[in-house]
Amino acid sequence: MAIRVTVWNEFRHEKKMPAVAKIYPKGLHEVIAAHLRKSDDLHVKTATLDEPEHGLSEEVLNNTDVLTWWGHAYHGDAQDLIVERVYHRVLKGMGLIVLHSGHFSKIFKKLMGTTCDLKWREDHNEREILWVTRPGHPIVKDIDDHFIIPHEEMYGEFFDIPEPELTLLISSFSGGEVFRSGCLWTRGAGSIFYFRPGHETFPTYYDKNVLKVIENAVRFVAPTPSPKPQAFGNRPRGWIDKRIETESVSTTAT
Ligand code: ZN
Repeated sequence: MAIRVTVWNEFRHEKKMPAVAKIYPKGLHEVIAAHLRKSDDLHVKTATLDEPEHGLSEEVLNNTDVLTWWGHAYHGDAQDLIVERVYHRVLKGMGLIVLHSGHFSKIFKKLMGTTCDLKWREDHNEREILWVTRPGHPIVKDIDDHFIIPHEEMYGEFFDIPEPELTLLISSFSGGEVFRSGCLWTRGAGSIFYFRPGHETFPTYYDKNVLKVIENAVRFVAPTPSPKPQAFGNRPRGWIDKRIETESVSTTAT
């Protein structure tokens, strides 16, 4: 069954900073989306901050299985109402992939419940090595035991997140720091994957390993369709007897 993906991006750095526009003339979301569109089973749309409702209307979200989120300098411009909408969709089962500086987005902080703060350094000579710490996991399918990004921004521990349910990748940087770069959590029925690389002044989203991890993560966090929506609230006693009765009647009848 097809997975419906919405690739979300602030899409302002590309418009305001020539150095970023040079790398991502149509926006970094288009590079990610172009890769995902190579797979017939992924139905990919994009959405950006300056569209009405940030491109995330009820209708769009109700038809999204997996949302990817890249934001940086304009987290504060994301309307609380829309963030709340995304939050409830995640709890109902939509997968969410938070990329790079999305660690400080309203939606990620709300889902994590911590500051999501970290150490950082922008240095053109910073080399990142991402090490796989969960070999065999679907998100690192077809990834070697490590991959190297020659130029990236540094993110360093302590990364103030709740302990991940799984840590799949750890980065080391040439400056000496380390960082949990691929982390998984569950909130309600939804899965959340945080993936570190992707500073806007580097061509990271053209890297085949980075794209592969994003593609694998899309497939992994996509919801398994549930026969019924989750039920909450009071549950009177006696339901089991009624169920046994009904089931034995139907067994006798056949
Ligand atoms: Zn950055």
